[in-house]
Amino acid sequence: MEHYDFIVIGSGPAGRRAAIQAAKFGKKVLVVERGHRVGGVSVHTGTIPSKTLRETALNLSGWRERGFYGRSYRVKQDLTAGDLRARLDITLNHEIEVLEHQFARNQVTTLRGDARFKNQTTIEVDGEQGETFEFSAESILLAVGTVPFRPGYVPFDGKNIFDSDEILNLDHLPRSIAVIGAGVIGIEYATIFSSLDVHVTLVEPRDTMLDFIDRELIDDFTHQLKDRGMVLRFGRKAEKISKLEDGMCEIQMEGGRNIRSEMVLFAAGRMGATTELNLEACGLESDSRGRIKVDPKTFKTDVPSIYAAGDVIGFPSLASTSMEQGRIAACHALGRPAHEPPKFFPYGIYSVPEMSTIGMTEEEVIERGISYECGIARFRETSRGHIMGLDTGMLKLIFSLKTRRLLGCHIVGEGATELIHIGQAVLNLKGTLEYFVENAFNYPTLAEAYKIAALDAWNRMPVPDTQGLISA
Ligand SMILES: Cc1cc2nc3c(=O)[nH]c(=O)nc-3n(C[C@H](O)[C@H](O)[C@H](O)COP(=O)(O)OP(=O)(O)OC[C@H]3O[C@@H](n4cnc5c(N)ncnc54)[C@H](O)[C@@H]3O)c2cc1C
Repeated sequence: MEHYDFIVIGSGPAGRRAAIQAAKFGKKVLVVERGHRVGGVSVHTGTIPSKTLRETALNLSGWRERGFYGRSYRVKQDLTAGDLRARLDITLNHEIEVLEHQFARNQVTTLRGDARFKNQTTIEVDGEQGETFEFSAESILLAVGTVPFRPGYVPFDGKNIFDSDEILNLDHLPRSIAVIGAGVIGIEYATIFSSLDVHVTLVEPRDTMLDFIDRELIDDFTHQLKDRGMVLRFGRKAEKISKLEDGMCEIQMEGGRNIRSEMVLFAAGRMGATTELNLEACGLESDSRGRIKVDPKTFKTDVPSIYAAGDVIGFPSLASTSMEQGRIAACHALGRPAHEPPKFFPYGIYSVPEMSTIGMTEEEVIERGISYECGIARFRETSRGHIMGLDTGMLKLIFSLKTRRLLGCHIVGEGATELIHIGQAVLNLKGTLEYFVENAFNYPTLAEAYKIAALDAWNRMPVPDTQGLISA
């Protein structure tokens, strides 16, 4: 049995960052990955493919130019699933190559196989040729991620009825699709299809979507979706899904109003990939959604030699945060100093239009009883917005009346996921409204929206005295 300092199960964002960090400490590291190639959900079926698909859809459909040339403008007529796939393969290959090189450069050993626990410091791995290996380590990191939730009432067939891992394999673009689940993944795919002029019905049992996002942003977003013909069927559950003889799918809805569409994407939730890990052998348990409980600062589980990071520990389930968690977990596991996970991190939703947010929403600020003021800028108020032909897009800043500090930053529209980092820096460095008012921004940029929004708030904020304290 070969012994390692650190074993990582899973090569997604959490696993790969942890492994590289451990290798940089000079440790002997093994990464076990059951997939054909390294990268995890992030590279193969989640983040990168969906973002590549989005970019391809926006480019080939001419979406970004429609403000100038009208809604019927297309860069390529008769877009096919093949057009969408072509770019996907190139991007994914680049991503994987970079990862493989990173592992090789840092002398991280990778092994393809299915890992499970034998005890708290030993794992067994079923290799590609049916052989079984055993490895032991001082510490083991679980970075196994998630698999799509597939309830029994959904007759998945990978042809017309897909989960979110399968949807990339569609062989043609449908005329209509029903997306079940208005979470981040469902909304991203629903709006990508809609940008390709596929008729989309978005189904959600709750009355609202993305409750962690500022409501004013969601109102703006919802208006844009409806304006371009997306149908939102909220507040009712899907009860049964059938394939009809004419090849269409039918979703029977609670309350009786059914939905017919050519394809169905079921994107309502994911489960921690823990069922095959033989957790009993190491004394760990997962919850009803397959997640593992950890200390949120160190990512240590209830078993001292075992750590867990990434989607398998639950919220926020982002590649960005998973990477940080993996790195911090590796530091703790190997007894090295580590910073705390950041209190405020950005959330990027790559819908069309995209949204990004950091800090408190207006609803949270009210709930906490903080006196505040908001400033809003529309992208159409910026010169860059005029140049780009944008008639939508909004940035909202929330400031404390008492300290004038930025409390929250919320953006919907082109470039939101990049723009948010200005807000993130100011918020995490405890900056105030004055930062935006007193600094010059490149012109013409969408980033100017920060200044416009800050000035909007400034117009209604009490004037600070010379010590920066509020006099009124
Ligand atoms: C459609 C979609 C879009 C997304 N978009 C974004 C986005 O835009 N931005 C963002 O930040 N996040 C996004 N995410 C989330 C992001 O993909 C995840 O947060 C991230 O992949 C989690 O990383 P991870 O390391 O925890 O696990 P994963 O990436 O899930 O990797 C886990 C790996 O572990 C392997 N594994 C599991 N069990 C075993 C075993 N027993 N033995 C060996 N190997 C095993 C799996 O094969 C897998 O490769 C998206 C997710 C989806 C599904």
